[in-house]
Amino acid sequence: MMDYHSDMIAEDVVGEMIRRVTGMAMLYGVQKTVTNWEFPEQQEAMPFTLFPSLMPAEVFTRTRRVHIMFQTLIYRVANDHEFMKKCLKDVLPVDDFTQEFWNIYNTVREEGPAQEITLTLSRDDFMMEPKADGSKGQDVKQVEFNTFASGAGGVIGAMRDVHRYSLNVAGFPFKEDQLPENCPSKGLAKGLVKAWQLYGNDRAVVLFVVGIPEPNSPDQRWLERHMFESEPRARVIYRTFDQLIQASKLGENKELLVDDYEVAVVYYRYGYSPKHYPTRKEYDLRLKMERSRAIKCPSMASHLAGCKKIQQVLAEPRVLERFISDPVTVAEIRSVFVGLYRLNQDGSSSAVIEKALANPDQFVMKPQREGGGNNHFGAELKSFLEKIKNTQELSSWILMDRIRVVEHRNRLIRVGLGPECRDVCSELGIFGVHLSTPGEELENFECGWLLRTKPVEANEGGLFSGFSCLDSPFFVDV
Ligand code: ADP
Ligand code: MG
Repeated sequence: MMDYHSDMIAEDVVGEMIRRVTGMAMLYGVQKTVTNWEFPEQQEAMPFTLFPSLMPAEVFTRTRRVHIMFQTLIYRVANDHEFMKKCLKDVLPVDDFTQEFWNIYNTVREEGPAQEITLTLSRDDFMMEPKADGSKGQDVKQVEFNTFASGAGGVIGAMRDVHRYSLNVAGFPFKEDQLPENCPSKGLAKGLVKAWQLYGNDRAVVLFVVGIPEPNSPDQRWLERHMFESEPRARVIYRTFDQLIQASKLGENKELLVDDYEVAVVYYRYGYSPKHYPTRKEYDLRLKMERSRAIKCPSMASHLAGCKKIQQVLAEPRVLERFISDPVTVAEIRSVFVGLYRLNQDGSSSAVIEKALANPDQFVMKPQREGGGNNHFGAELKSFLEKIKNTQELSSWILMDRIRVVEHRNRLIRVGLGPECRDVCSELGIFGVHLSTPGEELENFECGWLLRTKPVEANEGGLFSGFSCLDSPFFVDV
């Protein structure tokens, strides 16, 4: 198989290559919005790697298969009230934000939901580890499972074209199947269109709930574009929480009405952080939408099922078996787990707390939050854990083994670091669509990946909150 190395390019041509490849990335649509106001919007290229990263194809096949199993698992969790209640029992009293979500979920559950159908557009994030026994190949380990506002499925779709171009400019030969096609937003759009069809009113719209400023707007537009190309009648409207607080209401049959539109599907790209809920009005809005007949993407149950606490409990002995009877499937899902540990004050966590304080670099400490920048690593983990270990707040956090990443080499462009070739590691996200009623899975498929690459020394890898760059796999035998 063809092979190449990012170090193989002469430093004096790198500057020109970056300019040309950045221009091409803009042209292909690998963009983010940089203006803080609504209009006129200005874009720049997203951070990207200059070349694709060498990866074993087998890792992708395996991970995509696991993702489909995981979507079924999360669906079953979201429909198991007793289980969710038990998982979150120690979190809710000390985590007001999660408690608010729980109240919304429980209120609508007790009232009886006006809509049975739920859509989840998920992204399951993994990192690659060298095999524990030192043998050839790589293991994949799950970082987290996102059920809410999973981003970058649009912009990543153009990275293959960008990388075909950069390899070509550099004069590196490759075979077409080494740079496989990948267009998650086509699949995600299919899910949104399918949900819109099931709602059963051609005049109803798909509501994209967004923020302003919204760096992700080009990514969202990719989804809208693919919806438009497959079903132009499924029209999209974009609204912020503020706009919806002003202009939304429930109709006689709990239709969600926004200005003059009836909403068929609410697609959340905003609303995952406490910062998005500065007053009661935002929670009230979320409750109103949850109560409505519109299909939610995702429902509050599915949103809550994506909590890190649930991920931790799923990794405990015999828990997967509650949801999945086939032992082969259970084993395959379990193979992607690293150690996940509950943090409680009842003494059951003392051993792991001691271990984490002695070896903080081997752990990550996580709260029930999304969007990057919330976790603790290394020395900071140690001082933070020291500070809260005797407080009630402890139980709203989890501990996780730090994944021992596979290191490789690449050049990271547009992240405020130099373009020199450096030691990097990658995070692989698999996108999926899951459409269901409590009694039936209507759709369950995966629709491609997000590959992000960051310096090995960086802790967090957010595209907007860290040093992460959009990347593509270049398939080789490893
Ligand atoms: P968020 O919901 O804020 O995105 P994540 O759990 O995805 O939180 O963590 C953010 C980032 O931190 C990940 O993208 C990854 O780069 C890093 N990270 C998280 N968990 C681990 C882990 N167990 N080992 C190594 N890195 C991790
Ligand atoms: Mg994440």
